[in-house]
Amino acid sequence: MTTVLLVGKAHPRFRERLAPHFDLIELPTADPADITPEMAGRTQGVTTFNQMTPALIDALPNLKIVANFGVGYDGVDATYAASKNVLVTNTPEVLDEEVADTTIGLLLNTVRLLPQAENYLRAGKWVKEGAFRLSPLSLRGRHIGMYGMGRIGQQIARRLEAFNVKISYHTRSPRKDVQYDYHASLKALAEAVDTLVCIVPKTPDTRQTINTEILGALGKNGVLINVGRGWTVSEDDLAKALENGVIAGAGLDVFEDEPNVPEALMKFDNVSLLPHVASASVVTRNAMADLVCDNLIAYFEAGKPITPVPETPVK
Ligand code: NDP
Repeated sequence: MTTVLLVGKAHPRFRERLAPHFDLIELPTADPADITPEMAGRTQGVTTFNQMTPALIDALPNLKIVANFGVGYDGVDATYAASKNVLVTNTPEVLDEEVADTTIGLLLNTVRLLPQAENYLRAGKWVKEGAFRLSPLSLRGRHIGMYGMGRIGQQIARRLEAFNVKISYHTRSPRKDVQYDYHASLKALAEAVDTLVCIVPKTPDTRQTINTEILGALGKNGVLINVGRGWTVSEDDLAKALENGVIAGAGLDVFEDEPNVPEALMKFDNVSLLPHVASASVVTRNAMADLVCDNLIAYFEAGKPITPVPETPVK
C-alpha cells in the first residue's frame, strides 16, 4: 500500500477517509529532523497545513504529491516541489462562500462596533449606563475597493452588491467577467474608495503593499479589511495610521506572525480582530479536508489530482 505522511495537525477526516486507501504515518511537526529513515523510504504522499519547505521535500526522496489543506499555499514551496517533479494541490472554491460571509461579518463588526456593543450588554452596562454609543462609522454610502478579485474576492463583491454600495477593484490584470470599475494600481484604487478589502495571496509582489502611502490615500474616513494574509499589510504603518487618525478603522482576520498579534493593534477601539477564522466552520473545514483526501485518492488511483496549483507539473 502507498504510504501517506500526515504532517502537522491531522484533520480527523484524513484518518477516516485515507485509511482505507493508504498506510498512514503521523508526523506532528513539520521538522525534517523528525523524519525517520522508515518515513523517508516509504512516503509518497503528504498532507500539510501550509508547511512544506525545500528541506522537508528533500527529506522525502520518494515523494510524489503534497496535498495542502487551504487555498493559500504560500508555506509550501511549490516551485521547488515542481523542480523535483512533486505535485502540489490546494483546496480552492470549497471555502469561497464561508470566507466571503466572514468578510462581510468583519466589515460590519468594524464599521458598526457590534462586538463592542455585545460586550457592553454582557457587562451589564446597558442597564446601568443606558444605550450603547452610536457608531461613528456606517456601511451606508461606502465605496468598497477590492484588492483581489479572484474566487473569494468575487464572492465578497457579490455579497456587497446586496448592501447597495459601490464596488471597484485592483488586480494585476482587469477581468472580463466582472462589471466593477478597474484601477490599474493599488494607489489609484485607494484614492478612489473609502474602504479597502484585501483578499490577495501572499507572494513576493504583495509584501507590505498596504503601507503608509496606501493608508494615506484611503484617507480619514478609510476602513481597511484584511482577510488575505498578514504579510500584505505593514502592521507598523497600520498602527501609526490608526494612532494618527489617518484612517478611521480596520478589521483584520490575518496577521504577519500568527498567532501573535501586535500589542500596538490591540489597544484601538475602532479595530476588529479575529484569530484567522474566515473559513473556520466545521462544514467548510470538512469540505477542505475532503478535497485534500480526494486529491490524494484521485492522484494515486486515477493518475491525476483534482486541484493542482498553477506551478505544479500536471499536464
Ligand atoms: P485567487 O487566486 O482566486 O485570487 C487571487 C486574486 O488576487 C486575483 O484576483 C489576482 O488577480 C489577485 N492578485 C494576485 N497577486 C496580485 C498582485 N500582486 N497585485 C494585485 N492583485 C493580485 O485566490 P482566492 O480568491 O482563492 O484566495 C486569495 C487568498 O486569500 C489566498 O491565497 C489566501 O492567502 C487568502 N485566504 C485567506 C483565508 C482566511 O482564512 N483568512 C481563507 C482563504 C483564503 P491577478 O492575478 O490578475 O493579479
